[in-house]
Amino acid sequence: MVSLTLPKRIADRDWIKEIEELSGENLFACYQCGKCSAGCPLAFAMDLLPHQVIRLLQLELVNEVLNSSAPWFCVGCLTCATRCPKGVDLAKVMEAIRTLLLREGKEERRPFPLPTEIMTEAPQQASVSAFRKLSL
Ligand code: SF4
Ligand code: SF4
Repeated sequence: MVSLTLPKRIADRDWIKEIEELSGENLFACYQCGKCSAGCPLAFAMDLLPHQVIRLLQLELVNEVLNSSAPWFCVGCLTCATRCPKGVDLAKVMEAIRTLLLREGKEERRPFPLPTEIMTEAPQQASVSAFRKLSL
């Protein structure tokens, strides 16, 4: 996987503040119980589990999150949000991460392109979901 270096403008704490502002979520409310990851239907495909994404951001290890496939695999199903005892909506956090990457022109961070044969057979909702991951 190609390594991504943070532009200075959004380094470290500023980048984390941008995620909090865009998502409306307080990353530091999370106390790492792991209930989000335990219920996430896409956790099997992610290189970082949802609660690990939050923890790395709390520790200001932003590059690990930017280079992760997890935000791209998140389908916004809200299972994590409904399970979280602290009311953290991880779907919004994942979306904020994707949005910031797209704003920086880093959409190549998507883990894989969908093959045409899958897209032609996929339901309409799949196309809408795919486009949502490319919109700011
Ligand atoms: S369920 Fe909520 S509090 Fe628990 S690890 Fe996930 S985000 Fe943090
Ligand atoms: S919204 Fe994303 S992170 Fe949360 S459970 Fe669904 S796929 Fe996992």
